[in-house]
Amino acid sequence: MHELVVNLHMHTTYSDGSGTYAELGQAALKTGVDVLLVTDHNVLVHGVDTYHRDGKKRVLVLACEEIHDQDRDPQKNHMLVFGTDQELSTLADNPQALVNAVNRLGGLCFIAHPVDPAMPAFGETDISWEDWNVTGFTGIELWNGFSELKTVAKGKMDAILYAFLPELIPHGPLRKALSIWDELLSKGQHVVAVGGSDAHARHMSLGPLHRTIFPYEYHFSTINTHVMTPMPLSGSLAEDRKMVFNALAAGHCFIGYDLPACTRGFSFSAQGRNSSASMGENISLDGAVTLQGRFPFSAEIKLIKDGVCIKTSHGETLTHVTNEPGIYRVEAYRHFLGKLRGWIFSNPIYVRSHQ
Ligand SMILES: [Zn+2]
Ligand SMILES: [Zn+2]
Repeated sequence: MHELVVNLHMHTTYSDGSGTYAELGQAALKTGVDVLLVTDHNVLVHGVDTYHRDGKKRVLVLACEEIHDQDRDPQKNHMLVFGTDQELSTLADNPQALVNAVNRLGGLCFIAHPVDPAMPAFGETDISWEDWNVTGFTGIELWNGFSELKTVAKGKMDAILYAFLPELIPHGPLRKALSIWDELLSKGQHVVAVGGSDAHARHMSLGPLHRTIFPYEYHFSTINTHVMTPMPLSGSLAEDRKMVFNALAAGHCFIGYDLPACTRGFSFSAQGRNSSASMGENISLDGAVTLQGRFPFSAEIKLIKDGVCIKTSHGETLTHVTNEPGIYRVEAYRHFLGKLRGWIFSNPIYVRSHQ
């Protein structure tokens, strides 16, 4: 398998971001990112899908969309939509109709910032996802780099500190988001977790202070979704686009916070007597199954089964032999800037009873 670093969920001047597509492409080329999925609010921009290049480096940039009902008060229920080629924001007031339309068109949809609390000091309301009766979506944005600010900054002074030192913000996906994900998985749904940046690179002024808060380049080096594909990018726009979306839809990916240490090279796999599986896949319990996690650097590792931590270890590997069906995933943490911070969150392997 090949690993592509995908940064997803970001805004340009087509909605409330400060950068153009060209500027986002340039920022991405300065980082280790391979693919950008750009998601302006309620507009699918046409004619901008392309590779941005600098010498031998290239980044694939694809226009996608973040859809929400602008007439709703508060404006909750944000959905990230990828790979549809068609404007669907007219369905924003009916999340289930939106999901159904995305599926009909062969696209993907992820519940954006499922837990997104209010930030009264800046007049920001709670924009968490509300409509949990919706079914059929691809997955959820488990970790959102921008909304995490709301959980750490309690007032204006905090916000100024984090504007200058944004690397102090990320701690990991919110506990509530993790428990929502585990609960969805426990119902038998195949729910893919992704990490999004929600980059806006907004300009902020507070008295004499003027600053672009959380520049695109910062976000692209921070929370990424690492996608496992059968081959590297080929240079064919249609093929590469399909390959990236297929891998995301299947859950062949993990979330990596790449600032404490690059997360490239992580793997989580299962080996049975006659079969094997990777993230997002099923494996049948035909005898025991060996789960194996490999980490590019030493970390505090947790193995989670059906939402409960069943094993912890420290190091670069995790091995666990099981005879029990369940939904297994791993989390890894590293010390960075004085705290133990979330570093890697895998998608699950579904260990099923042998039929
Ligand atoms: Zn949003
Ligand atoms: Zn957004």
